[in-house]
Amino acid sequence: MTINKTLPEKHLVHDNPRPLKVAIVGAGIGGLCAAIALRRQGHQVELYEQSKSVTETGAAIHLAPNSNGILRRWGILAETFGGNNADGFVERMSTGEIIKDVDLTSLNKMWQHPWQLVHRVALHNKLKETATSKAEPGIPAVIRTASKAVHVDAEAGILTLEDGTSVVADAVIGADGVYSRTRNFVHGKQARLFSSGKAAFRFLLQKKTALEDPLTAPLLEKDNVLSMWHAEDRRVVVYPCNHNETLNFVFIHPDSESHATQSDGALSLLSEYMATESLLIRLKAWNKQGSIDQVLKVFRDFDPALKKLISKVDESELKVWQLLDMEQLPSWTRMRLALLGDAAHPFTPHQGQGAGQAMEDAAALGTVLPKGTYPADVPERLQLYERIRYKRAHMIQEYSRQAGRDWINGKPQIDMMAYTAYNFGHDEIDH
Ligand code: FAD
Repeated sequence: MTINKTLPEKHLVHDNPRPLKVAIVGAGIGGLCAAIALRRQGHQVELYEQSKSVTETGAAIHLAPNSNGILRRWGILAETFGGNNADGFVERMSTGEIIKDVDLTSLNKMWQHPWQLVHRVALHNKLKETATSKAEPGIPAVIRTASKAVHVDAEAGILTLEDGTSVVADAVIGADGVYSRTRNFVHGKQARLFSSGKAAFRFLLQKKTALEDPLTAPLLEKDNVLSMWHAEDRRVVVYPCNHNETLNFVFIHPDSESHATQSDGALSLLSEYMATESLLIRLKAWNKQGSIDQVLKVFRDFDPALKKLISKVDESELKVWQLLDMEQLPSWTRMRLALLGDAAHPFTPHQGQGAGQAMEDAAALGTVLPKGTYPADVPERLQLYERIRYKRAHMIQEYSRQAGRDWINGKPQIDMMAYTAYNFGHDEIDH
């Protein structure tokens, strides 16, 4: 072995450092993207997922040009697993009158990468395959299911699982979502989650069902189009996925209308005590089963054609999501531990950027931990990751909050499309 004497003492071990050992907590969209970014740098990645199987929610998701560009560079092309382009955008008043009809085809050409819409399960499966496949560049990542993380020693890089197993790693990545446990080991206390004031009914419907009815067919017959209906305090967003065969519906409304027990700010108070497991479980349970009657009641004054569509839904698939927010963390990293995605910065869905920002976090991690990174340098490089990502992710998180605000005097406070095009049309990270 030759020793390069120009390097600082901490590096005088090997010419070519061994691959880093990286432990990722959580195999959601963010964790899997981090695994892909880091395996491509030649690192040894293991994901620890609390669920018995690694699955996603049955809903669709936007791949805006910023995050889609990252996936496309990794060879993940949404059109190969059901993704369709977003080529148009129609906004209506709640009663159905069209107020904006935007053609996105020229913007889609101007952006570096297309804006696409995919089913979350299809995306998750593709990310899982890319993270673990032998055919992809680097060392295949390993996913360990039924492996719940309960403790992280950030200084030593030791992750402890619920069954008592200890995992020693050069870097521990907390990608464990909005209810993150790893977050506690960055700051030593639970961050405060609170209700954003909104909830959403979500469900999928086969497009052919909508087309069979003469009242509902004209609303949704065009392919690749996003539609929105607005009232002052409620909105409906509909977009296609699965090659335009499936429609994804999101009915956003004040959470007091579907979660009566939370209207008194109970969620905000409870979040102070979230460290206790039983309350965590209760909080999660609020992402609960919805009913057609409930949607029709909350959206009683909306477009009759839209209400007719609701009556065609398979009620067992209708869910109510509590849209949470969180106070900004002072930092996302401590020594060998870094947070990513919703664990670091949970998003309201109003700009479709939560998963997109998790993807940007993942790509940034791959950039700051390139092949040949010395294990001793990991804490410093994780700080660099935070410096690169913190401002942008929180800025977009704030845009998302703003986009979710209700209308004032019959007008939206911001132009959602302008925000989307301005902020997300271009890549921030170059690889
Ligand atoms: P998660 O997807 O929550 O994954 C966390 C994983 O960690 C889970 O698998 C969980 O089981 C695991 N885990 C948790 N705790 C532990 C533990 N202790 N040990 C081991 N494993 C653990 N984003 C978009 O970009 N576009 C959209 O169109 C969009 N629409 C949305 C609509 C709604 C209504 C909502 C609520 C969100 C939407 N988002 C959207 C946001 C997006 O879903 C999230 O931001 C994204 O999924 C976050 O990914 P993540 O990997 O950070 O967390």
